[in-house]
Amino acid sequence: MGLNLHTHLEGWVRPETAADLGRQMGVPEPAGGWQDALRVRGVADLTVFLAHVAAAYPVLGSYEAMRRVAREAVEDAASDGCDFLEIRFGPSTHARPGLGIPDVIAAACEGLGDGSNATGLPFGLVVCLLRHLDDETNVAIAHAAAGAAGRGVVGLDVAGDELLFPELQRYRKPYEIARAAGLGLTAHAAEAGPARAAMEAAAWLGATRIGHGSHIADDPEVLAWAAGEGIAIEVCPTSNVLTGAAPSVREHPLHAMIAAGCRVVLGDDNPVNIGTRLAAEERRLVEEGGLAPEDLATIHRTAVEVAFTDDATRARLRERFSELAP
Ligand SMILES: [Zn+2]
Repeated sequence: MGLNLHTHLEGWVRPETAADLGRQMGVPEPAGGWQDALRVRGVADLTVFLAHVAAAYPVLGSYEAMRRVAREAVEDAASDGCDFLEIRFGPSTHARPGLGIPDVIAAACEGLGDGSNATGLPFGLVVCLLRHLDDETNVAIAHAAAGAAGRGVVGLDVAGDELLFPELQRYRKPYEIARAAGLGLTAHAAEAGPARAAMEAAAWLGATRIGHGSHIADDPEVLAWAAGEGIAIEVCPTSNVLTGAAPSVREHPLHAMIAAGCRVVLGDDNPVNIGTRLAAEERRLVEEGGLAPEDLATIHRTAVEVAFTDDATRARLRERFSELAP
């Protein structure tokens, strides 16, 4: 059970679906097969990690492929026992001649809707700017996201390699477009970069949630700021250990965040690539991380309040998780 508030659609491509789509789309199977291409083995830095995620990109570049992968993501999340799936992706990566950014977003929304209709799992789609893109493309992404507000898109994010592209100010305009359309605002920050990147994301972009934010705990001032401001930190434990953003689940900075009074929520980031899902993340946090059941209940209730969703869905989720109140 629980709300998955940080997970990438590109990280949900089943290896067998990649193989199937590859055959249909004329994409050659990677040396070693799709399973090995998608799955990160051992410790990887963020750059290596992102390369495994990118292995699926060649089979996502059609309307039907995107729709299918999105539908299967909801099915897989529902079978994992998830209560709310807030899933994100960078649509420009999958745009092609004849398949524009708005089409890619529409395909994902349609597939997520298909999956939701079949399983009853509520969802929201967060659209990601990408750090390596030019400003014009990121503005076009924000406009496309704003245009799909109310039709499945619930938020804006910026993703990509924080080490190679640390600058955040350049995303002010796209975030302003998204804010004006009523979208929720989050940003990957302080995952590989320093704690202050989280403050910059809030100050410059208006982000109320921070993706990963692992390094927030490195700086007591930033930690106190995050707690005071009620910034929600989207923690992805296994992903953070894999990329070196946290030494282990036991020594994960989320413990310091919880102790400081920060709002912590959870995600599984890229489940196929790292071999985990939300339910497994929650189990690891208790069994390896030493989290008390009350801490997990607090995480669930926090997630209900900060999820980018409509009032009716939030009310239903509140009811579901109120029973867990310690
Ligand atoms: Zn992420």
